[in-house]
Amino acid sequence: MGDCIFCKIANHEIPTEIIYEDDQVLAFRDLNPQAPVHFLVIPKIHIESVNTLDESTFPVVQAVFKAVQILAKELEFDAAGYRVVTNCGVDGGQSVSHLHYHVLAGRNLAWPPG
Ligand code: AMP
Repeated sequence: MGDCIFCKIANHEIPTEIIYEDDQVLAFRDLNPQAPVHFLVIPKIHIESVNTLDESTFPVVQAVFKAVQILAKELEFDAAGYRVVTNCGVDGGQSVSHLHYHVLAGRNLAWPPG
């Protein structure tokens, strides 16, 4: 999608701190971190949200969680614990309409979220 900021990040058109990349997904540090560790994992293809996943794109969710698992081990927060969250739509607080999973770690995370 031409005007999607996360598509531009996925295409390396705008600089960001990329920490993982494979053929299907990309992970990069969140611009406005909410925890000592806060990064986003996105599919490289444009998918608007969970609402628009379908049989052809569900496999990318597997690739997202594979990246999360690799990074949790690599950044050494797997044992302490962490949170993976995807916001969907207005009530979910989604501000960027390109499917993304927040990964938060490095502090005790409150529940329920606000
Ligand atoms: P959400 O509110 O769930 O849609 O999350 C969007 C997230 O993207 C927010 O946490 C923003 O801080 C983050 N964000 C927006 N633009 C960028 C960017 N260029 N680089 C890194 N993170 C970004």
